[in-house]
Amino acid sequence: DAIQEPHGHEERILVSVRLRPLNKMELARNDVSDWECINDTTIIYRSNLSAPDRSLYPTAYSFDSVFRSDCSTRQVYEKAAKEVALSVVGGINSSIFAYGQTSSGKTYTMSGITEYTVADIFNYIEKAKFMLKFSAIEIYNESVRDLLSPDCTPLRLLDDPERGTVVEKLTEETLRDWNHFTELLSFCEAQRQIGETSLNEASSRSHQILRLTIESSAREFLGNDKSSSLSSSVNFVDLAGSERASQTNSAGTRLKEGCHINRSLLTLGTVIRKLSKGRNGHIPFRDSKLTRILQSSLGGNARTAIICTMSPARSHVEQTRNTLLFASCAK
Ligand code: ADP
Ligand code: MG
Repeated sequence: DAIQEPHGHEERILVSVRLRPLNKMELARNDVSDWECINDTTIIYRSNLSAPDRSLYPTAYSFDSVFRSDCSTRQVYEKAAKEVALSVVGGINSSIFAYGQTSSGKTYTMSGITEYTVADIFNYIEKAKFMLKFSAIEIYNESVRDLLSPDCTPLRLLDDPERGTVVEKLTEETLRDWNHFTELLSFCEAQRQIGETSLNEASSRSHQILRLTIESSAREFLGNDKSSSLSSSVNFVDLAGSERASQTNSAGTRLKEGCHINRSLLTLGTVIRKLSKGRNGHIPFRDSKLTRILQSSLGGNARTAIICTMSPARSHVEQTRNTLLFASCAK
């Protein structure tokens, strides 16, 4: 079955890359794709680069999996996320990230993966013994917001001696069934758009964390201590667009937002890079809200999968290279 005990080799970070198809706009301007997945693990760049450029950039990149533009999200889920996501039913925390520039397919990929996971967990858990809880967080400008609450007041992070960093007053809904879950998802999506000109605007500048927590009554495991429970979480993280702050086109607030986005992504990059080299030594979880919130689902024995989404378009090649660089550092 998909639910396995963790082995040593599974502790490293699973890194995959997904190429999306050229979209209508790109096709209309005769944009072309220079990327080709030559097998299940290697993607190559095959434009006619000049010799000096060729020596500057690698032309072949290998990861745990690479997905061609005609792969379905189901295929991506099965190979690149399922095992990590479902480790939550074995009591192990995990995080799944979508990383990539705006319009590369992060939300498309992550929403599918979230839904497949919830469906699998519903099939797996015995409702009498487990409770499945759901919460949703947006981090925008290093400010944390509850997407399940109409109240936009920023939430504080608190250090709990037992649970680590917790988001104060965060709504946690106990999922009754699939319909309840999709209702909550729609509510989150509506909340994200408030104050923004479009969903794409909001999502390119903010990070979204959807968190599922499985709780089992402690009594089953720990005798009659009613106060404690065993719980583990899986986090679905739809990151802000990875494009640089320097590319956000206006001065003032936009630029400041860009800097914050970069700081969170930068810290995440540092944390992931250090984790991929081993779990010892100082890891700067505390340097950003994103990594603080995710600390217990990133460090320790937590499992991590990163899916880097990339546009195939030649016009996006610089951003795509940055994405592949991030992916390579995470391995
Ligand atoms: P991002 O979240 O990275 O900004 P989106 O997930 O919103 O990007 O994707 C941008 C657009 O491309 C959306 O209209 C989405 O439906 C489409 N898209 C993304 N990935 C794929 C894919 N693999 N196959 C088909 N369409 C895709
Ligand atoms: Mg998005």
